Amino acid sequence: MVLLRLVILISSYSGSVITKLECTNCGKEFSHKEINTLCDACGKVLYARYDLEKAKETISKQSIQLRKVYNIWRWNEIMPVIDPTYRITLGEGWAPIIETNNFGKKIGLNNLYIKDEGQNPTGTFKSRGLCAAVAKALELGEKEYVLPSAGNAGAALAAYSSHGGAKAHIFVPVDTPEFIKKEIEAMGAELTLVEGLISDAGAKAKAAGEKHGWFSMSTLKEPYRVEGKKTMGLELAEQFNWELPEVIIYPTGGGTGIVGMWKAFDEMEQMGLIDSKRPKMIAVQPSGCQPMVRAFHQGDKFAKLWENAKSFAAGIRVPGAIGDYLILNALRESNGTAIAVDDTEIKDAMFDFAKKEGIMVAPEAAATIAAAIKLTESGFIDKSDKTVLFITGSGLTTPDDW
Ligand SMILES: *Cc1c(COP(=O)(O)O)cnc(C)c1O
Ligand SMILES: [Zn+2]
Repeated sequence: MVLLRLVILISSYSGSVITKLECTNCGKEFSHKEINTLCDACGKVLYARYDLEKAKETISKQSIQLRKVYNIWRWNEIMPVIDPTYRITLGEGWAPIIETNNFGKKIGLNNLYIKDEGQNPTGTFKSRGLCAAVAKALELGEKEYVLPSAGNAGAALAAYSSHGGAKAHIFVPVDTPEFIKKEIEAMGAELTLVEGLISDAGAKAKAAGEKHGWFSMSTLKEPYRVEGKKTMGLELAEQFNWELPEVIIYPTGGGTGIVGMWKAFDEMEQMGLIDSKRPKMIAVQPSGCQPMVRAFHQGDKFAKLWENAKSFAAGIRVPGAIGDYLILNALRESNGTAIAVDDTEIKDAMFDFAKKEGIMVAPEAAATIAAAIKLTESGFIDKSDKTVLFITGSGLTTPDDW
């Protein structure tokens, strides 16, 4: 009997139950069977929707835990790719949760954990989103892509494009770390250097993409990167035995990571895997570029563009985000907050953490450590709160002149 039940559980890995795309702002529906970007009625972000009642037939706490798939397709029912031949993978996802009590004790937190996304292919969590996006684009017949990037997304797109037999054109600011530039070119993508910031790279990428008919992989304008990123939230629940932590601190640029996890929590609740309790979602941005922090504390629904953005944490040096209202909603609905940290605080946190825990993290990730210190001091985080820092990238992606 036990054996029979095991066989049923293991074999109950079934296909995607995606039903449509839906505008997160006005509710207009779109087909997932053709290319869609932003809502053509209101210009806002589209989300993939699934038949979660159907997903529940094969997704349960037990069935998920028995799956031998340790990549983003572990939860394939609530992922967008229908034909399994397009589910490409480089082993992204299943990043470990690591207890960091040496450092936790030092800063006064008794339950401090990291999710170490630096262990992903190309060294950042960006691989999750671009794996999903490239897989879906291939399924829809698109084989040539364009992307503006601060570097890490570009490296991930280059990797999955080559792996999937497609071509990527990537536009990055000139001050992107040398190693990342080399990595992008080594993996077969065409690299264009742009004077200025990610927003300037965005304008150049858009023009080139329209001219040549390349498919844009810009986050949230492309509706499926967020599906890859939501797997961070799915894994988190499973890794914490279906009890989400009290606090999540996330280094926020475009915000796809935060909104992706927020979406994942809702989907899991609807499938009966978790209850309605949510972690306090905390966005951290650099002092030199903090549009979400400003909007959050001013009570704005949307964030104004940040002028003269500066920070050595390039992945969160993002002046404006198309999903601003989704980020702000998640922060507010979760009773979370938004906080800015200085580049000097980021650097200090990075070295301190490396010495105490033996993990060298990316500057963006170090911003979460600096934020944890400040929020513990201010009392926003209680010393007993189970707190998870999203270490979104490895220290290997750090700029050369730090
Ligand atoms: C892109 C990036 C971020 C920001 O992630 P979003 O989901 O776009 O907010 C954070 N950390 C690193 C290392 C990144 O590359
Ligand atoms: Zn709309």
